[in-house]
Amino acid sequence: MSDLESFRLQTRTWLQANCPPEMREPVRDETDLCWGGRNAVFKNDAQKRWLELMAERGWTVPDWPKDYGGGGLSPAETKILRQEMTAIGARNPLYSFGISMLGPALLKYGTEEQKKRFLPKIARGEIRWCQGYSEPNAGSDLASLQTKAEDKGDHWLVNGQKVWTSYADKADWIFCLVRTDFAAPKHKGISFFLFDMATPGVSTRPILLISGLSPFCETFFDDVRVPKDQVVGEINKGWDVAKYLLGHEREMISGMGLGTGAAASLGETLVEMVGRDAQGCMTDPMLRADIARFDVDAIAFRAMSERFIDELKAGLAHPAQPSMMKYAGTELNKKRHELVMAAGGSDTLEWQSERSRGGKPAREWLRTKGNSIEGGTSEIQLGIIAKRILDLPGA
Ligand SMILES: Cc1cc2nc3c(=O)[nH]c(=O)nc-3n(C[C@H](O)[C@H](O)[C@H](O)COP(=O)(O)OP(=O)(O)OC[C@H]3O[C@@H](n4cnc5c(N)ncnc54)[C@H](O)[C@@H]3O)c2cc1C
Repeated sequence: MSDLESFRLQTRTWLQANCPPEMREPVRDETDLCWGGRNAVFKNDAQKRWLELMAERGWTVPDWPKDYGGGGLSPAETKILRQEMTAIGARNPLYSFGISMLGPALLKYGTEEQKKRFLPKIARGEIRWCQGYSEPNAGSDLASLQTKAEDKGDHWLVNGQKVWTSYADKADWIFCLVRTDFAAPKHKGISFFLFDMATPGVSTRPILLISGLSPFCETFFDDVRVPKDQVVGEINKGWDVAKYLLGHEREMISGMGLGTGAAASLGETLVEMVGRDAQGCMTDPMLRADIARFDVDAIAFRAMSERFIDELKAGLAHPAQPSMMKYAGTELNKKRHELVMAAGGSDTLEWQSERSRGGKPAREWLRTKGNSIEGGTSEIQLGIIAKRILDLPGA
């Protein structure tokens, strides 16, 4: 038996023995997701135990080095672990911007001291992070950001405002872009800071979304003192760190294209809702054709995603490839929820009934509208693809 085959068997056995039954059920809503953090709220003991067991093995971040709290697995082993978890429907033990965004940036740009200080805590789910990039006048044109950091000798003094900061009111720390040089060209005066959200001068105000939820905030900085050892990368070179992190954010967001029940086709999921004809096919032929087209696109996306992750882990992905994946994955997810709404008809528009489980289909559908905006809009991704991958003239 090859090393990888025996790793697969050991992994399967361990998962069977340790993944609690509750953690093999499909995620129903936000409360089923474990975000960790200083004030972590666990839905039940099984969720807490699952996080602890996986973190102990370094399997919340299987491919990070063991020294930083990871599992030290090779890309092939990491893929096997993912496949074996999917096979038993095991939930991700920890959702974390620390894992999907900041961690990779720290591994590449952080000092040894910063890696040792932050990465193991991220791996164990002890710090919950938020992302302070966007500002009222700096979204797509992110490099225009104006939040100011002044050098005060032994610390930096930060003043300004961020917006659309997801979970800022629940986060423990922020990774934040600030302007440290106002005279330099806009991309060259930006630095990448980390600071505790409990620092005096940091405040947040939730923003209500179209879905009725409030998962993000306006975030204000009023004379916030940031220690000098909490700058990642060089001063005024934060744009490199920011762009690298955005690639990982786009990779994470593209995963939405896979949906939650990745194995089942949308047609199988929706056929009972729409009804069957005498041949057992979905009754509405127009909808059936649209859903069949979606299912073919979803299979193609899954295959593309598999290849992309392999290339990314092997360091072979084109730097603009995350834009391609982000565009395809988020447009696909929006289409998925359009079809769910079409299949359910007017019933799915119910907002608060028990039958609609508190308006779940409609709220999820409305939430997908943000998919092609967060992490950079679809138009911006298409611009990057045109310029960097297709090499189109004038792009
Ligand atoms: C659900 C959600 C979560 C978010 N979470 C965070 C977070 O945690 N932290 C954070 O910092 N930010 C977050 N954001 C903000 C997000 O990054 C910005 O909304 C996004 O970058 C777009 O910026 P904007 O909203 O200022 O729109 P604008 O940049 O003003 O864009 C408006 C419209 O103009 C188009 N446009 C702009 N420039 C161009 C161009 N050059 N070519 C073609 N079209 C263009 C855009 O595509 C868009 O349709 C989140 C957003 C959403 C929706």
